[in-house]
Amino acid sequence: MNRRPAPHEAVIVFDIGGTRFRAGVYREGALTDVRSRPAISFRSAPELDGEGLRGALLDYLAETAEELAARHGASLASLSLGAAMNGLTGEVYGSGPLWGEYSQRFDPRAALAERAPSLRWTVLNDVSAALLAYADSLPQSQARKVMLVTVSTGIACRVLDMRSRSIPLDEFGLQGEVGHLPVQLSYQGRPVELACDCGGAGHLAAYSSGRGIAALTAWLRGEEEGMWQESDYRRLRKQGLSEEEALAGAVEQRDTFAMLLLRLATRPMAAWLRCALTLDPELDRIALAGGVCAGLGEHYREALLGHLREQGVYLSSGFDPDYFSRRIHLAQPGQTSGLLGAGLHGLRPEALHAA
Ligand SMILES: [Zn+2]
Repeated sequence: MNRRPAPHEAVIVFDIGGTRFRAGVYREGALTDVRSRPAISFRSAPELDGEGLRGALLDYLAETAEELAARHGASLASLSLGAAMNGLTGEVYGSGPLWGEYSQRFDPRAALAERAPSLRWTVLNDVSAALLAYADSLPQSQARKVMLVTVSTGIACRVLDMRSRSIPLDEFGLQGEVGHLPVQLSYQGRPVELACDCGGAGHLAAYSSGRGIAALTAWLRGEEEGMWQESDYRRLRKQGLSEEEALAGAVEQRDTFAMLLLRLATRPMAAWLRCALTLDPELDRIALAGGVCAGLGEHYREALLGHLREQGVYLSSGFDPDYFSRRIHLAQPGQTSGLLGAGLHGLRPEALHAA
């Protein structure tokens, strides 16, 4: 049962997120037989309770894995899961995007071993999977540690030690849940107070996640009504573009309202990244990923770099004007594939969280 997988073995891989479920076969660095379906979540299947949603996910995983395994002769299956989980034990704590408030703990590996016993299952958090794929896309990198930051519906990060290829964890099997750090944002000398999805106030995600930026937009409209009325952002929204598309379009045109919004939304991000860089001198590379960063692209990175240059890291960034730009990069979409990360993990599951 505990045999070491051969490097050329096929792995049935899954990427389970709140919007899509993806599956495929990973072999020697490449993906084949990839398929995708809408996620079964509390939003898409409101008739199911938490228990029912998990049952439906397990049925989908077991059925798809057995079908792919029969076709590709695989005995390994690996899952990238968009859930908060204990990386040491594989126990899942909960998933806002998949199951909403439902937070009964469970062990998906044990449940899957029961439903599809011919396969050896491994389970990995989705940010960790994306980071494994990203690190694998940098074969020449000299970085000692690489951090991946995802900014989408929520915000999280992970740090991989490139020398040991491990993601260190605390005693609860967690690392990098930065989305609910308390932060401070003020505008024209007054604090901006926004509530977080978790029920807390003033958390990073309340200002800087995709949903946070939407709330910040509504707040800023109230403060700067004249600027809003004149803005390209408003014009693009009136043309029927989504908030994300309109913001990306308006930022592209350097619209005053959109640029102010971007500057405010990235300020709390820069604050915690500045702390991270100050405390960990081995953090040689930071990659920005997730829907918000992908949508705003280089504009997002520039806004972040602007804050960091304004208030740098004591001494170090004064010695080198490129201190931040050398470290902070945009991840390209293909570099953070959860399916690739699941495949890499499926072949070396024991190494990732080793002390
Ligand atoms: Zn929160």
